[in-house]
Amino acid sequence: MASSFNFVIGSAKFIFAPIERCLNCKRNFDENMKVLQKLLKELNTVKEVIELRLSAEIHGGTMQTEEVKNWLDDVQRIKTEIEIIERKAKEKKFLSRVFLGKMVEEKVVELKAFLRKGKAFLGMVKSFKYIIVGGGVAAGYAAREFDRQGLKPGQLAIISKEAVAPYERPTLSKGYLNPNPKAAARLPEFHVCVGSGGDRLLPDWYKEKGIQLILGTEIVKVNLALKTLVSAAGEIFKFQTLIIATGSTVIRLTDFQVEGADAKNMFYLRELEDADKLVESIKMKKYGKAVIIGGGYIGLEVAAAMSINDFDVTMVYPDPWCMPRLFTPTMAAFYESYYENKGIKIIKGTVSVGFNANANGEVKGVKLKDGRVLEADIVVVGVGARPLTALFKGQLEEDKGGIKTDGFFKTSMPGVYAVGDVATFPIKLYNEMRRVEHVDHARKSAKHAVKAIKANETETTIHYHRSQNLGLTGSKMERLLELSLKVGHLKKTRLLQKFQDSILHLRT
Ligand SMILES: Cc1cc2nc3c(=O)[nH]c(=O)nc-3n(C[C@H](O)[C@H](O)[C@H](O)COP(=O)(O)OP(=O)(O)OC[C@H]3O[C@@H](n4cnc5c(N)ncnc54)[C@H](O)[C@@H]3O)c2cc1C
Repeated sequence: MASSFNFVIGSAKFIFAPIERCLNCKRNFDENMKVLQKLLKELNTVKEVIELRLSAEIHGGTMQTEEVKNWLDDVQRIKTEIEIIERKAKEKKFLSRVFLGKMVEEKVVELKAFLRKGKAFLGMVKSFKYIIVGGGVAAGYAAREFDRQGLKPGQLAIISKEAVAPYERPTLSKGYLNPNPKAAARLPEFHVCVGSGGDRLLPDWYKEKGIQLILGTEIVKVNLALKTLVSAAGEIFKFQTLIIATGSTVIRLTDFQVEGADAKNMFYLRELEDADKLVESIKMKKYGKAVIIGGGYIGLEVAAAMSINDFDVTMVYPDPWCMPRLFTPTMAAFYESYYENKGIKIIKGTVSVGFNANANGEVKGVKLKDGRVLEADIVVVGVGARPLTALFKGQLEEDKGGIKTDGFFKTSMPGVYAVGDVATFPIKLYNEMRRVEHVDHARKSAKHAVKAIKANETETTIHYHRSQNLGLTGSKMERLLELSLKVGHLKKTRLLQKFQDSILHLRT
């Protein structure tokens, strides 16, 4: 009896074992396919980041090797092989999965090794919760606001082309050009936020707060969909939230191929480096002749500075009066006569069409359209600026030459904000979109964007933690946020405060 029972059990095992193996195989196949699809997604991202970094290395670099090229070629091969497996699995449902199982298992191993190799090409990718690209006025004020709102060490990085921590840029055309070495403004004196009466944020402040100041680093490629930035040196930065604060760059006469505009001792003024070069030249050409091209605020300020530095100064501008966009003719007349009383000559209604240089390539004369030639040892050009938006072309909506934002400085891409000179935002007072190149706007927009980022994060949390006490839900808060958006830029600080206060209530 017992032996026949054992026989039955043995036979059953014999019959069911392969079925069980088949079932396990299928289970493994399904799980491995899921892993494969996840790895494939990761592979696409790594490939895109490698391609992004390659495109940033215009003049050759570490990525332009045969090995990287082969790796990229292999991506397509692997993708095609996975597609074939997927197709076969669909065609012959059950049995094929059993047979394909081994193949999928091997592919998972191969893909993991392949991905490791791809990631190794990229080196270390630095990831931050928040990145501010640009390290000027807006960046400094944004950093202070992040700190006020609550920031953990390592969450924020500021990436700046300039070699110094954020400073109050307007100083460059004022105190920085003071001829008295004891009175002249020099860093660290004018780091933000002294311009608005706040504390001076020295490089140590950023260190103490765990904010990474990545200086002397120019971002040359951006892929907002991948949340990736690539620097000129090929470093890769990943972010969750990005604040664009790249400001403006000067318009150069060389952009219009003005003859001789690349002569030595011709200056523009935007960054500390420009100001240092001008100061050096002022020392070299003491008591010389200076020609200032442009009658805007840079032209007027630099003309005054050159005059107190004992230069013989002539201003040239095409408009009928200085600062035409801001001054009425009467206001301009007051300033022009004040300048003339100080010995500054003003030539209006004409432009420079070329520059003469000596054998050393130093500027010696400014040729005017009306035929006159002005002697010059130094020329300072202040003919305007344009916002630095090129990095984001085609990735963000633009308006009036800037990056279009809403009243919270949020761009058309979720998680990406634009502040300062680059932002075109709604001004309720004029009921229109405007871009503003003012220091006060840079400070306030930065502060405002950070508050919005933080409020948004808190608001997201509320979706999951409803308050029974107040009966307010995430959706109600959303409506409050929408309402404050509609009210617009000028009134939003107060509304945002209310919004945040409500959130605080909810959390307590
Ligand atoms: C000489 C001068 C005097 C001024 N005086 C006045 C004044 O009296 N009153 C007033 O209201 N306004 C004044 N302004 C204008 C005011 O300074 C600007 O509106 C303000 O600085 C804008 O702040 P921002 O942060 O948007 O840009 P910025 O302060 O210009 O900062 C931009 C930063 O981004 C960096 N950057 C750009 N591209 C990249 C990149 N690809 N990668 C990394 N970093 C990048 C730049 O190097 C710079 O550090 C003056 C401007 C100048 C140049």
